[in-house]
Amino acid sequence: MRNQEVIDRLEAGGYLEREEWAALLADFDESDRLYAAQKAVATANRYFGNRIYIRGLIEFTSYCKNDCYYCGLRRSNTRAARYRLTEEEILTCCETGYGLGFRTFVLQGGEDGGFSDERLCALIGAIKERWPDCALTLSVGEREADVYRRFYAAGADRYLLRHETADAAHYGRLHPPEMSPDHRIACLDTLKAIGYQTGCGFMVGSPGQTPETLAADMMLIGKLHPHMVGIGPFLPHKDTPFGRERAGSCELTLFLISLVRIMEKNVLLPATTALGTALPGGREAGILAGANVVMPNLSPAGIREKYALYDGKKCTGAEAAEGIDGLRERLRRLGYEVVSGRGDWKECK
Ligand code: SAH
Ligand code: SF4
Repeated sequence: MRNQEVIDRLEAGGYLEREEWAALLADFDESDRLYAAQKAVATANRYFGNRIYIRGLIEFTSYCKNDCYYCGLRRSNTRAARYRLTEEEILTCCETGYGLGFRTFVLQGGEDGGFSDERLCALIGAIKERWPDCALTLSVGEREADVYRRFYAAGADRYLLRHETADAAHYGRLHPPEMSPDHRIACLDTLKAIGYQTGCGFMVGSPGQTPETLAADMMLIGKLHPHMVGIGPFLPHKDTPFGRERAGSCELTLFLISLVRIMEKNVLLPATTALGTALPGGREAGILAGANVVMPNLSPAGIREKYALYDGKKCTGAEAAEGIDGLRERLRRLGYEVVSGRGDWKECK
């Protein structure tokens, strides 16, 4: 009961103290989770009706100069399959996606020096010139403010940069010393100030995560007020230092999705691929926890498996752009409508 009162207070005021977050996340049960899910679904319904937005995910490069301990694309993973799509291949993905009804394209990749800033700007310009009615989201990691400005000027509308963890010591457990949590947060502030619709987020169950570090994540989201929040379970990749760690909990992931929805109301909240991978019917479960976005894979089929952030990544069925009709039908049975259209973040009254 006490937890449900805390959830009520989060709903009413959009805020909890750090200790309250930690206590809630340390000790909740199934009835608390369902209580939050029901409120989250009602909140999503108030702001978006029964509409679910779709984004086509194009994983355009698997090269990365970083060495995040959790990720299969880290530079030290000599067994990773590396590829870079050509501009032509990327435009073909967009063309296919447009035909399937996608009006947002997400360009995601490692921090790849092979794609210079100029090359990325030209690519952004080419996509926006050909499909001016579409939104373009970038997810290419940490860059200088000036570069973020050039991408924006070239036509990029949105940017996904998960903060990964808001606790500095935990950040240090997940990343090599040359990566800084302050810089990551500074990037998020810059992106928002430039005018991007900006997304942060984190993995659930990453090694070293505790109710206290999760409390810090929720406080950060409450302070940053991002337009989007990506939350998915941590899943191990065998050729990383965390290859033998346990996967994150799907129940906790779903609970956190609901709590973010209750706190941030009109935020764009995807049911992530990692959730779809870890849990059968994960996309649907995410939506029934308060998510309102899905991002099916629009990369060329042959390379999807090479973009291996973690083991076992799903890239067929509900996770694949060409499976959109099946997903549409399954969501329709749950009372939801997959809509075409950019699905921009909107100020709420
Ligand atoms: N290089 C960019 C974008 C690609 S990685 C960046 O790092 O921002 C996109 C996201 O995948 C990361 O933010 C991380 O949260 C997630 N990810 C990486 N490895 C993962 C793993 N082992 N399990 C679950 N999610 C993972
Ligand atoms: Fe590179 Fe992103 Fe993977 Fe880190 S999480 S190694 S930045 S692709």
